[in-house]
Amino acid sequence: MSNIIFIAPPAAGKGTQAELLKEKYNMAHISMGDLLRNEVNSNSPLGEHIKTIMEEGKLVENKTVFELLEKRLLTLDVKEGYILDGFPREFNQVLAYENLSVRLHKEVDYVIYLHLDEDKASKRILGRVSCPNCGAVYNEYTDTFDKIGFCNKCSTKLVKRNDDNIETFKHRFQTYLSNTKPILDYYDGKGLLYIVDGSANKTDIFKRIEKIISGVVEW
Ligand code: AMP
Repeated sequence: MSNIIFIAPPAAGKGTQAELLKEKYNMAHISMGDLLRNEVNSNSPLGEHIKTIMEEGKLVENKTVFELLEKRLLTLDVKEGYILDGFPREFNQVLAYENLSVRLHKEVDYVIYLHLDEDKASKRILGRVSCPNCGAVYNEYTDTFDKIGFCNKCSTKLVKRNDDNIETFKHRFQTYLSNTKPILDYYDGKGLLYIVDGSANKTDIFKRIEKIISGVVEW
């Protein structure tokens, strides 16, 4: 059983890899972005507020993300391990998560950094579509479809995220550079950090991650 954190710029494939791990190893996939999008879709006043922040490419306030995350971790069956996708994204979240994970006996074993440069990330963003039903993520330019515009797994109509446009992407990438990238040094210092080339194809990335969590890769 492994507990994993994925850190990455937008569109580096953390959601895709998390879903692959979930399928093969029955791990729990906790996507902070999905938890926030669920709140947005509930049309609550909080959801309206979160929607504005996400569309600006900024980080949602810590009070909100902590509450949503703790609620999810408490209700979740994580005996096969979990993948935390999109959290932490800044240093106060790192510290808060350390306290929370110790309290819940769910400490992290691996922090995997999926590296992707801005140019490649922006190209991926423009083609990204996902399934609102099962969470599968595709690129409409590079993936093949049984029926164009529909999910290969569950046949639901694929959708584009509101924040997957070039303006919001630029803000998200800046937020990532100023808030998220600096936390890598912290995890490196703790001996938890593993770097994976996010520009490789998803099968090769997955093989690399499997090697890391089976203890084959050492840094
Ligand atoms: P993602 O689905 O991981 O690309 O996240 C989409 C958006 O949700 C981000 O651009 C942020 O606006 C927000 N978000 C996701 N995770 C966090 C987090 N840990 N802290 C604050 N905001 C977040």
